[in-house]
Amino acid sequence: MSTALVVMERCEILAACTEEPGRITRPFATDALRCADAHVTEWMRDAGMTVRRDNIGNLRGRYEGSSHSTLLLGSHLDSVRDAGRYDGPLGVLVAIAAIQRLHDAGRRLPFGLELLAFADEEGLRFGSTYLGSRAVAGRLAEDELRRTDAAGVTMADAIRAFGGDPGRIADDRWKGDRPRGYVEVHIEQGPVLEKLGLPVGVVSAIAGQDRMRITFVGEAAHAGTVPMDQRRDALVVASMFVIAVEQEARRRPGLVATVGRLDVEPGAANVIPARVELTLDVRHPDDGVRIEASQRLIADAHALAESRGLTVEVRPTSERAAVACSPELTAVLRRAIGDGTVEVASGAGHDGVYMSELTDIAMLFVRCKGGVSHNPKESVTAEDVGVAIDVLSRFLDLL
Ligand SMILES: [Zn+2]
Repeated sequence: MSTALVVMERCEILAACTEEPGRITRPFATDALRCADAHVTEWMRDAGMTVRRDNIGNLRGRYEGSSHSTLLLGSHLDSVRDAGRYDGPLGVLVAIAAIQRLHDAGRRLPFGLELLAFADEEGLRFGSTYLGSRAVAGRLAEDELRRTDAAGVTMADAIRAFGGDPGRIADDRWKGDRPRGYVEVHIEQGPVLEKLGLPVGVVSAIAGQDRMRITFVGEAAHAGTVPMDQRRDALVVASMFVIAVEQEARRRPGLVATVGRLDVEPGAANVIPARVELTLDVRHPDDGVRIEASQRLIADAHALAESRGLTVEVRPTSERAAVACSPELTAVLRRAIGDGTVEVASGAGHDGVYMSELTDIAMLFVRCKGGVSHNPKESVTAEDVGVAIDVLSRFLDLL
């Protein structure tokens, strides 16, 4: 069987590691993840790696080189609820396939390879993303261990039940010299490569992101008795704001902005809405553009509220700067691809965000059907997976 078909088959095997029969749901520190770890451990060993699991629950496979320096490879094994087969596992399995080739040929590189199969990127169980890569980057705060899941289990207890020591998360931090880099293969989760007819592409940067909650407050009143020109309808103003968000994003190339949730109060058919709380998510690979757009949207929210006699409150909930991929590693990846390389920005966050605090990062995207991800319809072809394995193998040779 070709290496690409082996990877495709392994994606199917991991898809069966789930806590919800009939769909893929593989949260942090669960039996479903344990199942995935058991398979991946075996595949890593077959490819000549020594394997250990760290305290947070990441699998770490090491393929020794002829020197002490290390190149990190990685992706995540956890998933969202009702996930696809490839977001995360594909990157781990492509890396195993590339290392398997070295092992089969009896080759050692001038540097060691450490493959990190992260235990949590999506944050499904504890609502706190990137637990795996944050532990490796030394950026997991101790008070986060007190977070609880939907069943009331603390993160500390979950880690303990999974075989880790929550008191020794600090030991998971990368210890040795600065790694030579971190390289991740991931499905694109967008439609650009498909549109260009390319199997793979290199990532230029991971977009920065602002998240905020915006609350419009008007006045509740009877839907039948208050004339249209005398209303202070919070939902009407929120709706105008949603349109303004779309217009702002369309006006600035590369900007994406989304209102993903509206909570309307009191929420009755015969009452004029008094209060609407909404979420706003703004992303761009250039921090300057993102910050300017966010400020503009906040000003719009105030202007719209004022024009209708409402008040508005804006609460930033998170801000993350963009992470640029390393020009040097990216140039090597481009050489590994050969003709027809394209650079795309990643609108989605990845473990590289935190790995960039340890070392230079680079990412290779694999075309996916219709740009669909976080969905069981997620789809990649064996041909494209074959290209990704070849590119990663050539990259390791060129480095
Ligand atoms: Zn992912």
